[in-house]
Amino acid sequence: MNHQSDLIATDIEAYLAQHERKELLRFITCGSVDDGKSTLIGRLLYDSKMLYEDQLAQLEAESRTHGTTGGGFDPALVTDGLKAEREQGITIDVAYRYFSTAKRKFIIADTPGHEQYTRNMATGASTADLAVILIDARHGVLTQTRRHSFIVSLLGIRHVVVTINKMDLVDYSEERFEEICNDYRDFAQRLDLPDLHFIPISALHGDNVVEPSPHMPWYRGSTLMNFLETVYIGSDRNFEDFRFPVQYVNRPHLDFRGFCGTIASGIIRVGDEVMVLPSRQATRVKEIVTFDGPRQEAFTPQSVTLTFEDEIDCSRGDMIVRPGNVPKVGNEVDAMVVWMSPEPMVPGKSYLVKHTTQTCVGQVDSLRYRVDVNTLHRSPAPVLQLNEIGRCSITLNQPIYYDSYRRNRATGAFILIDRISNVTVGAGMITARETDKKTRLAPWEAAEATDETTSSAVRVVTAEERQARLGQQPATLLFTGLSGSGKSTIARGVERALFDLGRLAIVLDGEQLRRGLSGDLGFSTEDRSENLRRAAQLAHLLNENGIICLAALIAPDAQTRAKAADLVGHDRMLVIHCEAPLDVCRERDPRGHYAEAEKGEMPALPGAGEDYQPPENPDLVLRTAEDSVEECVERVLQLLRKRNFIR
Ligand code: ADP
Repeated sequence: MNHQSDLIATDIEAYLAQHERKELLRFITCGSVDDGKSTLIGRLLYDSKMLYEDQLAQLEAESRTHGTTGGGFDPALVTDGLKAEREQGITIDVAYRYFSTAKRKFIIADTPGHEQYTRNMATGASTADLAVILIDARHGVLTQTRRHSFIVSLLGIRHVVVTINKMDLVDYSEERFEEICNDYRDFAQRLDLPDLHFIPISALHGDNVVEPSPHMPWYRGSTLMNFLETVYIGSDRNFEDFRFPVQYVNRPHLDFRGFCGTIASGIIRVGDEVMVLPSRQATRVKEIVTFDGPRQEAFTPQSVTLTFEDEIDCSRGDMIVRPGNVPKVGNEVDAMVVWMSPEPMVPGKSYLVKHTTQTCVGQVDSLRYRVDVNTLHRSPAPVLQLNEIGRCSITLNQPIYYDSYRRNRATGAFILIDRISNVTVGAGMITARETDKKTRLAPWEAAEATDETTSSAVRVVTAEERQARLGQQPATLLFTGLSGSGKSTIARGVERALFDLGRLAIVLDGEQLRRGLSGDLGFSTEDRSENLRRAAQLAHLLNENGIICLAALIAPDAQTRAKAADLVGHDRMLVIHCEAPLDVCRERDPRGHYAEAEKGEMPALPGAGEDYQPPENPDLVLRTAEDSVEECVERVLQLLRKRNFIR
């Protein structure tokens, strides 16, 4: 191999030892062939000199005859072997490629980019540390970019490099690059992508792939290769929570009883106190034995055998943890499930559930919603089809020891297996709530549809029963507009009218929320966003219980309103823009806020100093400076009737 290391020729032992110690980075490439994925992978392999001499000679010859570069070297041909396989339908799975540089070893998971390959992408992403998302500079952020990014965030990949490719075709324009970065950032705010980078490249010509580009002096960041070699992944692993699922018990003779397995997370040392689940018996670690002999400490993802100081019960499928840091134990979990089988997932059917070293029987009790992988919209659905993703509640016939996937990729994941064919049909990521700081920093991402308590002991009231009794379909009406535009007044008016019609509606007033539920929040952009998130959660809860929610909130930011609609459900959220000129609102000043703001006793108000973004496509616009309260209320009722929320 034409590897870039003189050590190979001079001291092979030293080279191998150096290679052994190198850190491994696993990454996934997301994009379709047209975005230049094969070209990029080819370029990485070629420029890092990870091709055999004879492959190189052949490639150069092929580039002259079949290449798309007019005789010059065509990196896409490097990965053509894979393409040919795919065309013949041999490989639909993930192709793993291996290469290394002087600094690191790499495994690339290369998966097809189309929607029908969502399951493959999820498989490739499940073990990746980093994702390279390719965007064609000419086309910018596309539906597939959104889909790939969603799956990447769902599978818990923390590092994302968005490579804007084909910069040569947009004249290496900085402006175009910035435009695409901004588009991407806008939409990525709704995802949990903690470490996001953008690199302008031309995979075909090699700009910023391995070598810095002479064509883009305005770009001062690292090249893709440099980034892949240096991105810090050391803290990604969970070293905090010790979890050791027991794979098997090794008892070669009476004096030795060892518990073997792979450390799913955390660190363990000889002498540490441990506890076995489910028995909850505690003891201390006597020895840590590995393939290379005994050790004083071991950490994830090492495979080890532990022995205990005391004889306590412990068998395959049990989990060894620390007494002060235990996972959740239970037989009901909520999870995001990626469906991988042509047979749809049907609530009520039972499957085998494989979770760490345990396999048990479970059934999907309910499919709470399905996520459209292209738009991120959530909608109710009866089943999950192949490649669809949904949030499910699952009941198991025995308890498991789990963490949320976000916290622990090993103890937070499971697979569903068909009981008859023994084929893997789904992959699940447990979405248990975390109360730690990490999720508090990203509350929108942590926000999930509100849990209903299900119990087989009582006959739960169904949505249909509520609808029949109340004569209404639940909806959330978001009245947005400047302070004093009339949101609360109209919301109260609509409540009165619905009440008189025998319907049930509740007003969520921003002012009231701020006195109670959101009493801890100020008026910064983040706090306003959090206020709306809480209101949206509450609205969702009310809607789940059949009640119409009339939410009167300034909600000045378009993006936050979109997130609220995601939470509530797009099909039942109506945006009503209460519109009145600023001077009219200021004149009305029903709560004295404008006066307070002028005196500096309150922060600037949206529309007066702060930005207010009017909704672009509201379901209704009410001009409250021109029409009376009664007229406005009547128009809202007409809308509800027209959309069949009330009869
Ligand atoms: P917001 O909730 O948007 O801050 P409020 O509803 O509290 O605003 O106050 C709006 C004020 O404007 C009230 O005093 C209300 O009587 C008056 N008003 C006049 N015309 C209208 C109208 N067509 N719709 C709503 N409010 C109106």
